Amino acid sequence: VKSEHLNTREIQSLDSAHFLHPFTDHGDLATRGARVITHADNIYVWDSEGNKILDAMSGLWCVNAGYGRKELADAAHAQMMTLPFYNSFFQTTNVPAVKLAAKLASLAPAVGGRSFQHVFYSSSGSESNDSNVRMVRRYWDLMGQPQRKIIIGRHNGYHGSTMAGASLGGMSGMHAQGDLPIPNITHVEQPYFFENALPGESEADFGVRAAGFLEAKILELGADKVAAFIAEPVQGAGGVIIPPATYWPEIQRIVDKYGILLISDEVICAFGRLGHWFAYEKFGYRPDLVTFAKAVTSGYVPLGGVMVGDRVAKVLIEQGGEFNHGYTYSGHPVACAVALANIELMERENLVGRVKDDIGPYLAKRFAELADHPLVGVAETCGFVAGLVLVKDKVTKTAFDPNLAVGMVCRKHCFGNGLIMRAVGDRMIIAPPLVMTHAQIDEMIDLIKRCLDATLEEVRA
Ligand code: PLP
Repeated sequence: VKSEHLNTREIQSLDSAHFLHPFTDHGDLATRGARVITHADNIYVWDSEGNKILDAMSGLWCVNAGYGRKELADAAHAQMMTLPFYNSFFQTTNVPAVKLAAKLASLAPAVGGRSFQHVFYSSSGSESNDSNVRMVRRYWDLMGQPQRKIIIGRHNGYHGSTMAGASLGGMSGMHAQGDLPIPNITHVEQPYFFENALPGESEADFGVRAAGFLEAKILELGADKVAAFIAEPVQGAGGVIIPPATYWPEIQRIVDKYGILLISDEVICAFGRLGHWFAYEKFGYRPDLVTFAKAVTSGYVPLGGVMVGDRVAKVLIEQGGEFNHGYTYSGHPVACAVALANIELMERENLVGRVKDDIGPYLAKRFAELADHPLVGVAETCGFVAGLVLVKDKVTKTAFDPNLAVGMVCRKHCFGNGLIMRAVGDRMIIAPPLVMTHAQIDEMIDLIKRCLDATLEEVRA
């Protein structure tokens, strides 16, 4: 098979014959064929038919530095020529992994006297969350409280696809396939104001009430059985669910009151997405463990990990002996070298600062205009993520019949108009690369308007 000579049809037929894709309906794939992405630059990707597409999802929320960054390719090449692989088991280490751990420790702000001096490496968000489960259980065993086993997540949260990751997440479609969640994992309701607020309830009151679901669950289970609470700062895959400002302070009060560990899953939210290196800083809470992956390398090579806070690290290190856990690629030198180059690039171009002070506020202003569109019930942003809800009736905020799959109709029009936007039910979401200029934000907003118009035309027909 000489790939350079394959045309789109040939690639698509080989694809559907041999490639079992994640999160893909293969019946549909066989009929319509996959879209073949061939190359990319800055905020655009191109398909095999030559279409230029504005990637408002940064791949899968990860290409924060944009495509085509030579520095990252050079870092991978140089490291491959020096030391392409070595493991970090059995008292061996490597220079990029050490430098990156120290760099990440310096980027994770200490809050309330708690700092993050240690990193545990993996290759993905899912593996990192599996590691969290093992570290949390190990911590409580060492603390003489082995009965603290239950980890509480949230409905509609996403923490990955491994058995533990999919269990921690609250995606009912995932639980239905594979007999999940695994034992000792349970869930509470998400803080989704648009859908779950009571009539007349203020956002502030809703935030406190939504955090209260956690306290009620802890009391129901027995506080001495609960090991940890895991949540995303802003839920990504669930549809960019931005919690009210009152939510996280109340969560912090609750986990402190019952002494349970707090895991901040920042696989999407870290590395500038919300205008901070780590998102817990934005909301002012104090996690014990912070999951990261994706944008640590801007997605150029797989790398994930957990920032381990002092409270847990001290016990694991001083009392734990050997922790029987780790991955072949924990601290992979090439992945760590690319991450170092990525962080250097992000610092040089002030990508985190510009989300906070420049392009973030500009996106907020422009995205808010979409709320005027007849199809849009609400349009909201947080840093450089945004979501809008497609509704049947703008005044009463009545939803469409789910069978109409209006979100998918809109996504189809996005594809047709050269824009990648994700549909989560009837919530349309974006997480663009952090290198976007104001002019590119304008271009993206114009495209979204065009896609909304086309969707409106189709649903009214
Ligand atoms: N956690 C969160 C919050 C995520 O968004 C994701 C992926 O989207 C994961 C975990 C899983 O990461 P991965 O796909 O790298 O395993």
